[in-house]
Amino acid sequence: MKTEDIARTWYDYFAAKGHERVPSASLISPDPSVLFTIAGMVPFIPYFMGTEKPPYSRAVSVQKCIRTADIEEVGKTARHGTFFQMCGNFSFGDYFKETAIPMAWELLTHPREADPVTGLRGYGLDPERLWITVYQDDDEAYAIWRDQVGVPEARIQRFGPEDNYWNTGQPGPGGPCSEIYYDRGPAYGVEGGPAADETRYVEIWNLVFMQYRLSAVHSKTEFEVAGPLQNKSIDTGLGLERLAMVLQGVENMYETDQVRPVLDRAAELAGIEYTSTEDPADSHHANDVRLRMIADHVRSSLMLISDGVRPSNEGGGFVLRRLIRRVILAMRLMGVEEPVFGELVSVSKDAMKGTYPEVESGFEKIHQVAVKEEQAFLRTISAGTAKLRSAVSSAQSAGAAVTGADAFALHDTYGFPIDLTLEMAAEAGVGVDETRFRALMTEQRERARADAKGKKSGHADTQVYQELRADSPTHFTGYTEHTTESRI
Ligand code: ATP
Ligand code: MG
Ligand code: MG
Ligand code: MG
Repeated sequence: MKTEDIARTWYDYFAAKGHERVPSASLISPDPSVLFTIAGMVPFIPYFMGTEKPPYSRAVSVQKCIRTADIEEVGKTARHGTFFQMCGNFSFGDYFKETAIPMAWELLTHPREADPVTGLRGYGLDPERLWITVYQDDDEAYAIWRDQVGVPEARIQRFGPEDNYWNTGQPGPGGPCSEIYYDRGPAYGVEGGPAADETRYVEIWNLVFMQYRLSAVHSKTEFEVAGPLQNKSIDTGLGLERLAMVLQGVENMYETDQVRPVLDRAAELAGIEYTSTEDPADSHHANDVRLRMIADHVRSSLMLISDGVRPSNEGGGFVLRRLIRRVILAMRLMGVEEPVFGELVSVSKDAMKGTYPEVESGFEKIHQVAVKEEQAFLRTISAGTAKLRSAVSSAQSAGAAVTGADAFALHDTYGFPIDLTLEMAAEAGVGVDETRFRALMTEQRERARADAKGKKSGHADTQVYQELRADSPTHFTGYTEHTTESRI
């Protein structure tokens, strides 16, 4: 099943159940409290908060999302993209758990072939591979899964508020959630459900039950429930690429049909064979991770530029810049120094245009923006390379390692990540004072943190998911934190 067909089946199923088809909103969040659209519910925030009256009581969407908070996971886990599509069904004061849960189950397990009478199509997943989590106190959801749907108790697990409670980070609606996981099988990890292993058991669908009024929210796990909400609502999110990975029988989301072509082209350009390994001890792992990351980041860049984001030094523009740079550096670490972005983004466009025709109609501009940014970065890199050469030759004549200060300057001024410095220094036969480099990075991070604190006070924090924090503009000084840890 192609990703596009999976999305179509999604829309058709929920439309048949009386949901209004709502097209994806832009990646640039329509809600001012977040920078990017990080979940399917973001365009519906005013309806959930009760600040606007929804024109329909049920909606279905497949929403483009960006989660920069997941950037360090990309390529290392099987399931995290910076760009992905979240399929959602929503009820605004209409149906609740008793309907949302059985519908989710029916869609996942109903055969793929259309029912001759109802025309209904599902995804045909094996029910025995599906595991359920519910919030520890949510006996209602537990009973629906067990009694109404018939899931054996052995495959229902209770989780705490860390994983299975949703709130906005401030007084307002909140409630438990219930998640559906797919068991990839014993080759992927230990038995015992999602509580034991989130690599073997992949989270595919989150059902959020907005049912309480919270009078205070101290943290993700500490909040005060004032009473039931008058309008109980449903917000669900299923990862389209995660379901595609399961239905296409591939190892990870980067090997699904909308992403894989970029991975293959990057491997070809680098003259490297992609081996699909998830094992860090495998000698192919480093390049495999790079290729998966490249495929993800190229697609994210394509979609961001298409939605009007332009490279810059702040906000969304900086995220785009960082994605493009990471691709170029990863290609470099695989030995490719020539420009590649124009070619890769074109391959990504061909893989995405079926769902998003605007990436084709707007491609001339997209291509131009990407290539210009790459050229500018390649110039930066040559300047950095000159600086690195001089740092290496002073190290050689002193019979010492490249100083931490030089490595830091390369990072800070020239945008050279430490990996690149280490690798290039090693080629020249010298080491790098990494300890001092790390110390300087920590100092800088602490300065940034102190700065961020100063700026944060007085900012009305209307974030919706905890993840939003990492994407919110006020958090951007903390961005260096991510780059510090970046192994590219
Ligand atoms: P995980 O625990 O795997 O990081 P999550 O709990 O952060 O996922 P939710 O916030 O519950 O994810 O989002 C709803 C659904 O969106 C998830 O069940 C998953 O299928 C999908 N999803 C979330 N983050 C990503 C991502 N970075 N890439 C691809 N799909 C994602
Ligand atoms: Mg997550
Ligand atoms: Mg999760
Ligand atoms: Mg989740």
